[in-house]
Amino acid sequence: MNDDLDYLRAAITEAQAAQAAGEVPVGAVVVRAGRVIGRGQNRVLRDSDPTAHAEVVALREAGQHLGNYRIEDCTLYVTLEPCAMCAGAILHARVARLVYAALDPKAGACGSVLAVMNHPQLNHHVEVYPGLLSEECGALLTGFFRQRRQAQAAARIQQRRETSMTTKKKWSAGVTSDSTHPEEGLFNKSASEIAKALASKKVSPKGPASGMRMLNFYINRAGKNLSKERHSELEKAKDELSDIIASQKKKPAKTASKSVKKKATKKKAAPKKSTKSAPKKSSSKTSSKK
Ligand SMILES: [Zn+2]
Repeated sequence: MNDDLDYLRAAITEAQAAQAAGEVPVGAVVVRAGRVIGRGQNRVLRDSDPTAHAEVVALREAGQHLGNYRIEDCTLYVTLEPCAMCAGAILHARVARLVYAALDPKAGACGSVLAVMNHPQLNHHVEVYPGLLSEECGALLTGFFRQRRQAQAAARIQQRRETSMTTKKKWSAGVTSDSTHPEEGLFNKSASEIAKALASKKVSPKGPASGMRMLNFYINRAGKNLSKERHSELEKAKDELSDIIASQKKKPAKTASKSVKKKATKKKAAPKKSTKSAPKKSSSKTSSKK
């Protein structure tokens, strides 16, 4: 049993090497008469080979060493329960003993999902010893998958940042002729807010027509990325902005100032009513409380 632990640790070393290369950490060794005659680590990604599981890689090396596709009188040590493919390879190789560490509840073919070993209709019998150093080997795998998830999440965030940066660059490159830029998020506001801002001298110092060009440019560039609601709101903003442009062309400065005065007087009248009614309500409330 002590020998089993030593050889399984040799398989763990192979698994760690696979992890260092960015592969799922699984390792295996083949031992015959106290000698390691085959080592293997998972290398499916590096070799673009779906069959390059640690067990198969180790069995190939052992076969080369023996000059025989039958790898008899050998023990295969592996850090994870073999899959159906590897279990089949172990049977074909006539491996005598199989020692594996962690169970594989998703793809294990030595009892977890399938039971390929020692099937009653198959001739070859394999001695199977599961569970040795299973916690250590299981932790190796769970740690690897946790790290990979974190790395993938970080990559997604980075990608989002980069795409938002490139869209900003495109925008600024497209409107250099207008010399000014609307505040960030303006095109997410209401139609009237957009129209007012684009008509303002701050955003469109050469007049609201340049604001209209900016709005058209934005709608064309955003294109399919705009929701239907946003698109109709921007179209509404275009209508309001063209109204502003038309009113500035038609109305002389004097009539415009009169209409402002009328509005101002109306506004003044309104608050008087409210100020009268407000104290009455509050007084009646306080009296009822007493
Ligand atoms: Zn496998």
